[in-house]
Amino acid sequence: MRHRIAVIGGGPAGLTFARVLHRHDHPVTVLERDPAPDARPPGGTLDLHEKLGQLALGKAGLLAEFQALSRPEGQAMRILDTDGTVLRDWQPRPDDTANPEIDRGQLRDLLLGPLDVQWGRCVTEVVPGARDGVLVHFADGRQETFDLVVGADGAWSRVRPAISSATPHYTGVTLVETSLDDVDTRHPDLARLIGDGSMAVYGVNRALVAQRNSGGHVKVYAQFRAPLDWHTNLERHMGLNRRAGMDAGLDLADVEAVRSSLLALFDGWAAPVLDLLRHGTAFVHRPLYVLPVGHTWAHVPGVTLVGDAAHLMPPLGVGANLGMLEGAELAESVAAAPSSGDLDEAVRAFEEQMWARAGMWAKITTAGLERLVSPDPTEALAFFDEVQPS
Ligand SMILES: Cc1cc2nc3c(=O)[nH]c(=O)nc-3n(C[C@H](O)[C@H](O)[C@H](O)COP(=O)(O)OP(=O)(O)OC[C@H]3O[C@@H](n4cnc5c(N)ncnc54)[C@H](O)[C@@H]3O)c2cc1C
Repeated sequence: MRHRIAVIGGGPAGLTFARVLHRHDHPVTVLERDPAPDARPPGGTLDLHEKLGQLALGKAGLLAEFQALSRPEGQAMRILDTDGTVLRDWQPRPDDTANPEIDRGQLRDLLLGPLDVQWGRCVTEVVPGARDGVLVHFADGRQETFDLVVGADGAWSRVRPAISSATPHYTGVTLVETSLDDVDTRHPDLARLIGDGSMAVYGVNRALVAQRNSGGHVKVYAQFRAPLDWHTNLERHMGLNRRAGMDAGLDLADVEAVRSSLLALFDGWAAPVLDLLRHGTAFVHRPLYVLPVGHTWAHVPGVTLVGDAAHLMPPLGVGANLGMLEGAELAESVAAAPSSGDLDEAVRAFEEQMWARAGMWAKITTAGLERLVSPDPTEALAFFDEVQPS
């Protein structure tokens, strides 16, 4: 029996789900809000773990292609003190394939392959229990019915309200992201500082992290503890000096104003480290939101969630990995379910397994964020000493 399956969202979780179903010759409708694959910048680099994201790619038959594209050398990790002293410098062994990095855009293209994604299809609401299945409403007023709707539509999921009342809450930590292009040619000193993978500097309640992507592109993340409206009054919320004109609200779209505020926030840090901000291009504001740790719901026939829609957690390198493995596992279960009763049982069993694994990672990443952006920067170092292979 061919179930009518829709997945909402063409991120890592949704595309992996669709690609594994496709491998099993099971039809799947992929509905994505973006009007085209390249409608917005794809984002930074992802490390895919052997027992999570890479396992999922194996289920999709894409492991060899991933190995050809990914950067094992990107596993290198260096930690500096705020004065620029190198505190740790981990280099991967040449044969280390535990967590190689891949650009998000490359991963997306790899997963897309032969998939026939319906671009520009923004879902507004999902209604289970309709006479003929689960009803999906679109922003253009259309509606369609499916036997199973998989919500892979990320943090602000429009599918989630059909089965859960949970909503993401702010962690108290904000990232401001910037980028450097062609770093080896234009900023060779910074290229050397960052190395082949990631470089991080941890201070009191703040951090600067730089990650190499392919093609000499670098993403830089300024991270700090602050109220959500920190930019509305820099003196009151951030303790920045009134004389420097920091009391007025910061226009987050004003690149130079954001740059000078960040430079003030990281004042006193080593000049080469601050060059990461001085040379950054646009700045993107990313307050970190999470779903409650251990988020579950009462099973609703015909609707489920995977990835960030199910378990948005701090970005400590597992969100995409978990979403991909969930997508792959759910697809295998769906493909193996002959009748509609079997399909529902398969989804139920999948949810139990997902909740247990995601709950464990949500605890780990929540505790990790507390230690990485902490009043005591030695906590960040201790965290890495525990998790980095020696
Ligand atoms: C700075 C940063 C670094 C990170 N680094 C890592 C890392 O190294 N490793 C890792 O595993 N994770 C990492 N993460 C986490 C990772 O980005 C997410 O967990 C992952 O992208 C979640 O994948 P997803 O497919 O569930 O959702 P998303 O990637 O958010 O994809 C959701 C998709 O759904 C679409 N969509 C949304 N709403 C609708 C709608 N209404 N209708 C139709 N389509 C819709 C969106 O356009 C999008 O394409 C990082 C996160 C951040 C912020």
